[in-house]
Amino acid sequence: MSKVYNWHLGRQMDYPYEESHPQRQFAFVFNTNRCLACHTCTMACKSTWTFSKGQEVMWWNNVETKPYGGYPRHWDAKILEMLSKADAKGSRSWGGDADKKKPYGTFDGKTIFEAADAVPGRKGPEQQRVLGYLPSDEEWAVPNLYEDVPKGPKGHPNKIVMENQSLPTHKTWFFYLARICNHCTYPGCLAACPRKAIYKRPEDGIVLIDQSRCRGYRKCVEACPYKKAMYRPSTRVSEKCIACYPRVEGKDPETKGLPMETRCMAACIGQIRLQGLVKVDKNGEWTEDRYNPLYYMIKVAKVALPIYPQFGTEPNGYYIPPRWVPRPYLRQMFGPGVDAAIDAYMAPDRELLAVMQLFRRSNKIIFKYKLEKGKKTFETQIHGKPFVQYDDTIIAYGKDGKEMFRTKIDEPLHVRPAKHANSI
Ligand code: SF4
Ligand code: SF4
Repeated sequence: MSKVYNWHLGRQMDYPYEESHPQRQFAFVFNTNRCLACHTCTMACKSTWTFSKGQEVMWWNNVETKPYGGYPRHWDAKILEMLSKADAKGSRSWGGDADKKKPYGTFDGKTIFEAADAVPGRKGPEQQRVLGYLPSDEEWAVPNLYEDVPKGPKGHPNKIVMENQSLPTHKTWFFYLARICNHCTYPGCLAACPRKAIYKRPEDGIVLIDQSRCRGYRKCVEACPYKKAMYRPSTRVSEKCIACYPRVEGKDPETKGLPMETRCMAACIGQIRLQGLVKVDKNGEWTEDRYNPLYYMIKVAKVALPIYPQFGTEPNGYYIPPRWVPRPYLRQMFGPGVDAAIDAYMAPDRELLAVMQLFRRSNKIIFKYKLEKGKKTFETQIHGKPFVQYDDTIIAYGKDGKEMFRTKIDEPLHVRPAKHANSI
């Protein structure tokens, strides 16, 4: 094992390969507060990539209802339990000071790589590189089981309480979690592949499986803690989300050579998704890029957080946590930055409010934004915090540095003339 630096954990960790990083990294922010589980993203992906024989239960994009739903069933509860058993020390907690190199402090538990020696019955040459498990066919079969099933109050998990639901925590709750491959910085799938069939592209960090090298051993399926590598029985090789790389490369005629967002991002009805390509230096640090919207939301405003950072893969999928869900559950899923992220989202400052308007205004990838200040239009208190709104304009720029679009905070109001009233 080599030592690599994982900034989500705020420390070095064991990984089977030496540090090596792409020039840019495919990354995305999903705002869970806005997802309506319409599954448009899922169907956009399926109708593009996984509509063929042998791919019937293969969903590179899925949307599950938390806490009970999961594709494959209970994937996160299962790996969390395995990690918990593997870590005899039992601490697995976050602590220490946060700074630029470790924005969430330091995690002292074992990652899926450091706990690999705990796989039962696998020692010596049989030793696994990654802690994981192979889901059964039954677990893959029903991707949407438990959709819209809520969790009741403490002590009464099956009781639905409708009254007195107010922030910060609802007594009865669920939320929708949209998921794709996280194109991790330290992918579990890549680490486990005995054929070296999985690689991370140097230009954009997209993780791909070389179909000609894969022999279908399913080590990637076992090792991906997010269960986003999948086996196709009709071809006997594994497949996974390819981040719609031809679009990211600008090959779609619509964008005339400029990088374009993936099918699932572009189709999102709830406008929860924003994808980007962040700059990375040779040590894996995100190069300071203050006005890149992803850099701003993740590194500056800290409103979007990595999903299950404790697994250790340094996932590049970031989520704005749902406001109404009990905090211990969210801290387990998104780490210790949850409270600050929800505070920032609930009463957004001027810049964050403007950046939130960039979601789904274009299919092209935004590389930079600029804020043009307007006059004050509104002020109030939100949960005891002052909130001021300005009629600012945010301008988005593409890879070529040219303006893509501009949008305002205050949407214009159009009043239908009386003669056209009820014309629908
Ligand atoms: S989410 Fe899973 S399949 Fe995707 S790169 Fe990470 S470990 Fe590999
Ligand atoms: S398209 Fe958007 S809103 Fe609809 S389920 Fe997917 S992520 Fe959620």
